[in-house]
Amino acid sequence: MIASEVRALFAVAARPEVVSLAGGMPNVSALPLETVSAVTADLVLREGAVALQYGSAQGVASLRESICDVMALEGIAARPDDVVVTSGSQQALDLVARIFLDPGDTVVTEAPTYVTAINTFAAYQARIAHVPMDGEGVIPEALSAVLARLRAEGRAPKLFYTVPTFQNPAGVTLSAARRPRVLDVCRRAGVLVLEDNPYGLLRYDGEPVRALRADAARGHDVVYLGSFSKTFAPGLRVGWALAPAAVRDKLVLAAESAILSQSPFTQLAVDRYLRTQPWQDQIKAFREMYRERRDAMLDALAAYMPLGVTWTAPAGGFFVWATLPEGLDAKAMLPRAVAARVAYVPGTGFFADGGGRAHMRLSFCYPPPERIREGVRRLGDVIAEETRL
Ligand code: PMP
Repeated sequence: MIASEVRALFAVAARPEVVSLAGGMPNVSALPLETVSAVTADLVLREGAVALQYGSAQGVASLRESICDVMALEGIAARPDDVVVTSGSQQALDLVARIFLDPGDTVVTEAPTYVTAINTFAAYQARIAHVPMDGEGVIPEALSAVLARLRAEGRAPKLFYTVPTFQNPAGVTLSAARRPRVLDVCRRAGVLVLEDNPYGLLRYDGEPVRALRADAARGHDVVYLGSFSKTFAPGLRVGWALAPAAVRDKLVLAAESAILSQSPFTQLAVDRYLRTQPWQDQIKAFREMYRERRDAMLDALAAYMPLGVTWTAPAGGFFVWATLPEGLDAKAMLPRAVAARVAYVPGTGFFADGGGRAHMRLSFCYPPPERIREGVRRLGDVIAEETRL
């Protein structure tokens, strides 16, 4: 396990004069804090003996029911029994890696992919094989070719890890036409799909797409990861895995040895919130706020980026993926950007193979629209300066 090379710069990026387009923190100040306070206070008063006691490693049954209602919004029909509640979806990712991966195993992922997933697979000494994406998400023919090549090399992978909707970091969504093809390619190759979907409900425009898990030919083709971090609050650390029974049983055993019991307190707080509050209205409010920020970023990019810079236009989620003109290096440029009071994440962290130098991830979730505009303006100046060097 190694620390990210850019972590030191993030301390600098946290200074108030720096516009940070780096972090992916949800904007929890948009939550109705009085309501959350009332829900948790009531929980302690009425159910304190349960909420403050040890619980099970699989998670509170009533929350697992509520989670099935949340997943139904993306077309998934699931049984509460097949849900394992975890400490954020991050823990689900870790537990899946723990039960499936042996040192030297290969995991297939999109390129670029979620940085912490790379780190988690690396912690279990797995190797990563990337598959390229385009504007419609991962390319099924390329996926098929990578799986065939790995098999021919005697490295048949166990998992295809994918963030199909509003991907972190690329902001790209796997098209509806490609979804069945991706499932089919993996099913034929005997590779389990690990679908990580924390952003699916944060759609700002376009038609909703169904989760991959919703249309899997067999329930055991996909392990699905979900989270309340973006639709409610990341500080509660409540996420989940929906898994076929055999995998679910191992996840529960792995969770037991990792943490004994999930926190009944935070799970019951989320469950009460879902059962007593208009949570879908809150998601709508989040969507409106983030849509305005997404639009501010896209408008500012169009206004301030020098010729030759390109970027994705995400229909949801938190991230825009920008590509610099030939010859520029986003990682080498970062200290100069921070000196100009703007920060981003260089693309290299999202590749396991040293790729990504010409790319950067720009988040629009946290700063308000006018700060986003200012940050992009500063970044445009830095890139323009760089192209003159
Ligand atoms: N997967 C992806 C793609 C993410 O972007 C994140 C959050 N940054 C996570 C998983 C982890 O989320 P959680 O807070 O549920 O652990």
